[in-house]
Amino acid sequence: MTNKELLQAFDGFSEELLTVLGTSERLKKQVQTVLEENARLRLENRQLQELLAQRQAPVVEKNTHNTGKEHLEQLYNEGFHVCNDFYGQSRGSREDCLICMELLYRDDR
Ligand SMILES: [Zn+2]
Repeated sequence: MTNKELLQAFDGFSEELLTVLGTSERLKKQVQTVLEENARLRLENRQLQELLAQRQAPVVEKNTHNTGKEHLEQLYNEGFHVCNDFYGQSRGSREDCLICMELLYRDDR
């Protein structure tokens, strides 16, 4: 292999790497979207379950509220917003969200 051929081979290799990197970024965004969608659906599902439980047995409302909160806390700890402002979105850098925290812990103080 001549030096020129070697350089050409590297050029080709670099281009392939960039393509793979682009594909990887696209896939990562798609997975992110699916995860956020999943979080939103879980939140909505939980809210519907709570509504249903309240209609069927209003007496256990307090109990349902606690379970609902645990569910929200779990989602938050998995890295998703549970607040209305960023509902179901990924918390990105995982920094705490004050609005979420307020929602999760205001009753405990
Ligand atoms: Zn939030």
